[in-house]
Amino acid sequence: MNQYLYTDITYLKGVGSKRAELLKKEIAVYNFYDLLHYYPYRYIDKSKFYKINELQNNINSYVQVKGVVCDMQIVGKNRAKRLVATLQDDTGFLDLVWFNGINYIEKSIQKNKEYIVFGKPTLFARAFNMSHPEISEVGKVEESQTIPIPFQPFYITTEKMKRSGLDSKNISKLVYQILSSSQINIEENLPLYLIEKIKLIDRKHAFFNIHFPQNQKLLKHAQQRLKFEEMFFLQLHLLQSKQLNTIKNKGHILKKVGKNFNNFYANYLPFELTNAQKKVIKEIRSDFISGKQMNRLLQGDVGSGKTITSLLVMLIVIDNGYQCCMMAPTEILANQHYESISKLLKDMDIEVELLTGSTKTKQRRQLLSNLKEGKTSILIGTHALIENEVIFSQLGLVIIDEQHRFGVEQRAKLWKKNESPPHILVMTATPIPRTLAMTVYGDLDVSVIDELPVGRKPVSTYHYSQRNRNKLIDFLKKQIHIGRQIFVVFPLIEESETLDLNNLMEGYQNFLLDFPPPHYHIDFLHGKLSTEEKDDKMQKFISGETHILLATTVIEVGVDIPNASVMLIENAERFGLTQLHQLRGRVGRGGEQSFCILLTGNKLSNEGKKRIQAMLETNDGFEIANFDLKLRGPGDLAGTKQSGMLEFKLVDIIKDEKLIAFSRNLATEILNTDPQLKNKEHICLHKYLNYLYRKTGNYYQIS
Ligand code: ADP
Ligand code: MG
Repeated sequence: MNQYLYTDITYLKGVGSKRAELLKKEIAVYNFYDLLHYYPYRYIDKSKFYKINELQNNINSYVQVKGVVCDMQIVGKNRAKRLVATLQDDTGFLDLVWFNGINYIEKSIQKNKEYIVFGKPTLFARAFNMSHPEISEVGKVEESQTIPIPFQPFYITTEKMKRSGLDSKNISKLVYQILSSSQINIEENLPLYLIEKIKLIDRKHAFFNIHFPQNQKLLKHAQQRLKFEEMFFLQLHLLQSKQLNTIKNKGHILKKVGKNFNNFYANYLPFELTNAQKKVIKEIRSDFISGKQMNRLLQGDVGSGKTITSLLVMLIVIDNGYQCCMMAPTEILANQHYESISKLLKDMDIEVELLTGSTKTKQRRQLLSNLKEGKTSILIGTHALIENEVIFSQLGLVIIDEQHRFGVEQRAKLWKKNESPPHILVMTATPIPRTLAMTVYGDLDVSVIDELPVGRKPVSTYHYSQRNRNKLIDFLKKQIHIGRQIFVVFPLIEESETLDLNNLMEGYQNFLLDFPPPHYHIDFLHGKLSTEEKDDKMQKFISGETHILLATTVIEVGVDIPNASVMLIENAERFGLTQLHQLRGRVGRGGEQSFCILLTGNKLSNEGKKRIQAMLETNDGFEIANFDLKLRGPGDLAGTKQSGMLEFKLVDIIKDEKLIAFSRNLATEILNTDPQLKNKEHICLHKYLNYLYRKTGNYYQIS
């Protein structure tokens, strides 16, 4: 790559310091090369002129029309004041309308002259209109039109940019200036054999045609080439970082399976492990003895038993004299893990501690000192674990119970907790789509628990709308009469606990009417109750005394009450798909047939309908995850946002699954034969990777 492309954008003719600042701030364009990577989002065919009587079929799409301005007047008053110029060709009339900049426009247009206008026609009161079109006099070629292009590119620009004259048209001029400079030299970044193998056009061509396509076909080729690059280099980067981790970071070797593991397995494991759980433990164990640092993602559907699996893995670590920590995204979850793990280990001699934001200072001090001395074997907590004062004596394993909420950066912080990094196991709450596993988690090895414990009957899911509430009440009563218990969950209405609470309490009053005491026992639970109250209420539910327990979502996750066989979700349309699936996973743990009931308003949005439909169609978390990604798009998946990983320019994470897999395989093959990309033909890859990841920093590569 020659120096020219790396020139600071300030020095491009027509930019200057003020606009440069905007380009940097608004669209992250720092140098000429970045601007070339700022692709148009659509193109308009400027080679064709439409006749006015053809506009009927082109309402709301951009077209170009040639004609004579036959009339011009200012009409309306105040806010409705506008300039209307009528354009005429041999087929009809078209009104051009301006609401802003009237004086300027009026001066620049003359009656009876021929103009070319460009804009979106609309139909208003049976006449064709075009508001704020681009207009230029025929014969007087504007500067921009010296770009000999059949398609005009359109770029996304912000209001601020537009105000400084950086509109789409001017961006295209800047890009053109770079592409037509005699100094430009766009080096190939892919080896020739690859270009030939997958039949790509060369880079220079690709850049030119993605901005200024000569024709549709070349545009497609250009997009294909640059899209491939986008994914391929990301995969190279991820895989190389993964490789580097293992080269640089010698993993603790944990050979022993000793007394803790064996004792627990023989005496305290409450059930037989599923084959999938065993398989995952084996995979992790082989990482432990490999001498390399483990970076592994553990996926499994709700209720597949990830917690116990991770506990067994921790016991191996402890058997080898190391400590473990487990980080959860919320305090409630951390508490729950702490409670369930402490309970499972209660008859064993293993120190388990909990550290969260609410841990009291005195307790905290003691805890930290125990940790440092190596007395604590398992530390469970929230983000609080990342803080510098948390020092382990010998940290061997970090488990991150991720729930889609930790960013890549945060993960990296835990990598650094030890001088030599601990093994890392990331667990997702529900499965994630394959494409995300290959991108957002692309630097991790993947283990999947793809089997539920035996004896689980699939939960039957039903949809009721409010108008059928009475039928639903009958159904619930029948369930109570045959001895079942019911969970009712209310959604997070706003980010306000008070409102949630109101919602819950209103629901409680309604339920009291339908299920009157003393015949029925109903109760409610929410985050603001004291620990004693919560425990008391929980206990009453567990013992079977309470028939129906109403709760906010705050306490939803992780409750495990086998006799509760009905999960009723109020305002189900307000929940995300993954969350609905999580909630459904809370029942169906006992031997009885369980039900998940989605109660919604009578009218549903399209989106809402689709989510409910998906829940009715499948119980499979992997399918649900795919649905969810399609419905919401990748941008909404928390934990991926901060990482910036999904800000692809051309790749569509939903549609391009094949490309993602293809690029990943290809990158794997190349790195297998040439891990450091040192072969002559791979130098170009190496160079380009260095360029790409210079700015963003590298969260994966921890030195
Ligand atoms: P998740 O994968 O959703 O975190 P959990 O670890 O909470 O699932 O496990 C769900 C329930 O299944 C728990 O009650 C757990 O004790 C139970 N469980 C886990 N593994 C098995 C198994 N192999 N056989 C029977 N029950 C199991
Ligand atoms: Mg879990």
